[in-house]
Amino acid sequence: MPNKVAIVTGGAKGIGFACARRLLDDGYSVVIADIDEESGRFALDSLEAHVGNVHFVQCDVSDKLSVHNLIAETLSRFEAIDVLLNNAGIAFQGGILDLEPEDFDRVLNVNLKGAFLVSRAVVDYMVNEIENRDDRSRLTEKPYSIINMSSINDQVALPDYLAYNVSKGGLLQMTKSMALQLAPYGIRVNAVGPGSIKTDMLADVAGSGKAFDKILMRTPMGRPGQPDEIASIVAFLASEDASYITGQCIYADGGRLALNYIMPVNSSDD
Ligand code: NAD
Repeated sequence: MPNKVAIVTGGAKGIGFACARRLLDDGYSVVIADIDEESGRFALDSLEAHVGNVHFVQCDVSDKLSVHNLIAETLSRFEAIDVLLNNAGIAFQGGILDLEPEDFDRVLNVNLKGAFLVSRAVVDYMVNEIENRDDRSRLTEKPYSIINMSSINDQVALPDYLAYNVSKGGLLQMTKSMALQLAPYGIRVNAVGPGSIKTDMLADVAGSGKAFDKILMRTPMGRPGQPDEIASIVAFLASEDASYITGQCIYADGGRLALNYIMPVNSSDD
């Protein structure tokens, strides 16, 4: 069992919560960082079996001071940061014909700049720790891992979610840039690209009935994914089992990116 510390941003709900729970089950201490305090408290309540190993910090990843506080609280509580999962994200509807500039900024500030701000602060800590190790412990200490929650929308676009597509495309390139610069330190940086996963975000974007059928028509496996099916990839990328993987994105999309035709589906409105 690893005796490591992980920060999960946007960990109060959905995919982030499933990842926090999985990392706790795998033996990590976990800091859940989320802007939504009420959901954070609810998350802590449902993780009471892990009391002492899980901590909630109210944090807006798009705010530099708030991120500074997250790092300080994590170190004061658990004295280390071994894994960072940049998962906090928002989606906002609007395309080139109607998206307001402020809404473009809002999405980019959370999904892309937020991941940058938290990574920047965590990497400062990690590199400093590595540089202060003696030669022997540099070889024996377990290395660090950073994981960015991207999306299939870093590859394919939705016409009416322009800012979201842009943010995830940027996050994929940030993953690669970070991986290259941090490889000599032994810090691995990877991404996960989910397709349609059953969370509040999917409910907001796709709703139910015909809109949901459209998603199934694009999904060869014929069902949305579950948050736990993303958490298992995060657990793998965080672990030593992924020790030679860096700069990659693992897509979990029920076959969506491989698809070049539309699946027949029985309408749930029938
Ligand atoms: P969700 O809405 O269920 O959860 C997102 C969490 O992020 C919430 O707890 C929210 O409070 C938090 N958050 C929002 N803004 C924040 C901020 N400024 N600072 C800190 N926390 C903030 O969404 P989800 O579906 O679980 O999505 C999680 C991640 O997975 C996102 O990055 C999303 O883009 C990505 N993703 C989701 C899907 C999907 O189908 N659900 C598909 C691909 C990628």
